Order: sequence, then structure tokens, then C-alpha cells
Amino acid sequence: MPMNQTVAGKSILQWQLEYPILQDVVSLKEVLWTNAKYKSLSMDTLTIDEKDVRDAEERWKRFAPYLAKVFEETQSMNGIIESPLVPIPHMHRYLEKKYQQALPGKLWLKCDSHLPISGSIKARGGIYEVLKHAEDLLFKHNLLTTQDDYSILDTKKFKDFFSQYSIAVGSTGNLGLSIGVMSAKMGFKVTVHMSEDAKQWKKDLLREKGVTVIEHRSDYSKAVEEGRKQAETDPDCYFIDDENSKHLFLGYAVAAIRLKNQLDAAGVIVDEDHPLFVYLPCGVGGGPGGVTFGLKLIYREHVHCFFAEPTHSPCMLLGLLTELHDQVSVQDFGIDNKTDADGLAVGRPSRFVGKVIESLLSGIFTIDDEELYILLHALSNSENIDLEPSALAGMLGTVKLHHTRVGKEYLSANTLEERSENGTHIVWATGGSLVPREIMEGYYNKGLHLSTLKDSLTEYDS
Ligand SMILES: *Cc1c(COP(=O)(O)O)cnc(C)c1O
Repeated sequence: MPMNQTVAGKSILQWQLEYPILQDVVSLKEVLWTNAKYKSLSMDTLTIDEKDVRDAEERWKRFAPYLAKVFEETQSMNGIIESPLVPIPHMHRYLEKKYQQALPGKLWLKCDSHLPISGSIKARGGIYEVLKHAEDLLFKHNLLTTQDDYSILDTKKFKDFFSQYSIAVGSTGNLGLSIGVMSAKMGFKVTVHMSEDAKQWKKDLLREKGVTVIEHRSDYSKAVEEGRKQAETDPDCYFIDDENSKHLFLGYAVAAIRLKNQLDAAGVIVDEDHPLFVYLPCGVGGGPGGVTFGLKLIYREHVHCFFAEPTHSPCMLLGLLTELHDQVSVQDFGIDNKTDADGLAVGRPSRFVGKVIESLLSGIFTIDDEELYILLHALSNSENIDLEPSALAGMLGTVKLHHTRVGKEYLSANTLEERSENGTHIVWATGGSLVPREIMEGYYNKGLHLSTLKDSLTEYDS
């Protein structure tokens, strides 16, 4: 640990004295951090609002006939890209047993792992921004109005039009997958700048679809920078900026409207007496930030959103805690940003997202990579649902709240204990359905191995 290194003019030791939790963070121990600024600001000061989210939802609806036409798997939902919300009672029991801890309330899984087209939460933000850009271009050239049936976009005329334009993005994998597949389908030229940790099968799949994949021997932030550079030299190239994009963010935020409809349909109440807890894996912040923003607009103080980050990549935690946002990286604190969790291997958080959520977010917890595999194995056994490792990051949310001192303090500070039996806990499963079978088996076996090795109690028995 480079103890003599300074961050924003203070030594790491000084930072640790000011924020004692940093000692555990830099030692790569799992932590739960609760946000001291929670609720202290009003949403009125933000640069985006409810109207923007509604507008995004309307745009998704306009594109639905097109999506239904070009992606067969969206036909049954009439071109609306949405994922199931399912109860996971067996996993709930597994967690109670493993941690010897009653976990009141009901546990659900939001299966963005099974979103059509790209099998991850990135299908929300990434696809949305491609559609928004396509629509902007067509409006500008008077080729389309909001009154048209957008399924006409699946014709040679429009594909030829889009082929004059290009799209670029930097990604650890899943964003590239969403943007690459969508852009290529519409006819755009598309380049995805992949960071070194991006999985080979994701690169192969994109190349198969005609996407140009550029591999960088560097991490996510650098891949984004390269994408940005490429776009700057070409006026017809549009760069999708995962670190700063309001459009991506709004694409994610629409998830909240959809979730509310699903909860209503399932008869789940969220109000003063029925708190909602949501646990979201966080990389650069756009996905979980957008969902949090949307949920806060709908449920206000009745929803409690927590992010989950790998112990090796706690970028949003550092950004919010130090209030330095994108001016701090995990590497500044001597943390290596090496994790198997695709999409979460991000060393520097988004300032835009950090500023929006700094008073909306309840807290952040970190999770060890090995634990991701153990949970992956347990979920597969108990519920027969297969996720990629990053998608398990939120799974310990309810355990962290009920089983740790900091969690219990949060519950009591918000007078939640007496209502905990009525609580709804949603783990946001952010990816997995496109993982090739043999790779998923590898994950499962790794989880099996680690569970038997680490703790005999982790064996699930039905
Ligand atoms: C990208 C991603 C996330 C996090 O989203 P960010 O917008 O980067 O914070 C979580 N899980 C998976 C599987 C992802 O691909």
C-alpha cells in the first residue's frame, strides 16, 4: 500500500483518520457504508426530472413496433424490452441458514439477466441511447415523425441512411454487446472499444454481428477514452459516453416505471408501512443510478436503494465518501481494480451519476469475488436460475442490513425494524442469460468448489 501517496492533497492515512471505514476498504474487506448525506437534499435541484423519464418511456413505446419486428424474442411482449420479477424463497432460506440470521420480509429477483437482445441491464441504457440517437438523426433530416409506425425503419432506405453514420463506445463487455447488436441491426457502422478484462465470447459474438471490436490492453476508463478520441475526429461518429450520458441514465430509469407495474400486478404494496429495499450492482454508476433515480421519483422515502461493488473495485463508494467523484480512482487508494465481475471492474465512478444520487442513495456494500461464485452456485441450486458473477453482487443486501452493526443502525435510524416483516427486498440480477453453457458450468463448478472449501453450511439442502 503506497501510504505516502496523496489523494486530493491528503495522505491515505489522513483520509483513513477522517473516514475510518477506509481502513477496511483499502484492506479489501467487505464493508457496508451508509450515506450520511441521504435525504439531506431535495430532488428539485437536479438537472433531470420526472418528465425526462416519462419522455424516455414514450420513446421506448414508439420504437416497440420496430423492435418487435427485428428481434423475434421481443414479439411476445410487443416490442417492449422487459425482464421478469420473481420471488426467490429457496434462496431466501439458504441465506438465513448460512448466516444463521432471520431475514424478515420477502426476497425477489429482478431478472435483467434475462432481458431480450443482450441479456444484461445494459439492454436498458445502451439500446435506449442508440434508439434516441437514431430518432434524432431521422427527425433532423425530416425522415420520420412521432406519428409514424417505426417498423418502417426495418427497410433498405433507412438502413442505407444509417450506414452513413457511425457509433463508438468503450466497454468492459456488456455495454458494448447492447450497443453493438442494436447499432448493427439498424445499419450503423459501430466500433466497440473493449477493455482487457472483456470476455472473449462477448468479442466473438459482436464480430459475428458485423461490429468492429478494438481490444485494449488497459482497463475500462482507458477504453472509454479511446472511444471518445475516435469519435472526436469524425463528425459523423456518435460516442456513447458511459461516464456522462444523460440518455443512458434515462434508459435505465424507465425500469422503475416497469417495476412499479410489476409490483402492482403482483399485489405488492410499497408505502410507509411496507418499505422497499433494492440492491443494485454498480460499475461506473449509470445503471444502478438510473434505476435508483426512477424509483425515488415513484416511491420517495419508502424505497431504500443500496449499491453493491466488488471489494477490488469500490469506485462509487470512494467517489461518494470522499466527495471527489471522478477525481478519485480505486488505484489512488492502492486498490487494483481486478475482479471477475464483468461490468463492475471500474476504477473511477461517473461524476454525473454521483451528483444525482448523492442524497438519494442509502448506502453501498462491497463483496468479495469468491462470494459471488458461492452465491451463483447457491442460486442455481436453490432456484434454478443462472446468472453471471457480477449479477450476484446485490444478493447479500438483506444480510448486510440485518446481520451487521451498520445495517442495524440504518434500520433503526429509519424506524424500519417494526415494519421489517412487511419489507420487500429486490436483488437486481444484472446479467447472465447469454453466457455460453460451458462457461456457465465453469462458474458453477468454481462456486461449488469454493462452497465446499469455505463453509460446509453453504450446502443447500431442499
Ligand atoms: C454494467 C453492468 C453493471 C453496472 O452498471 P453501471 O452502469 O456500469 O454501473 C452491473 N452488472 C452488469 C452485469 C453490468 O454489465
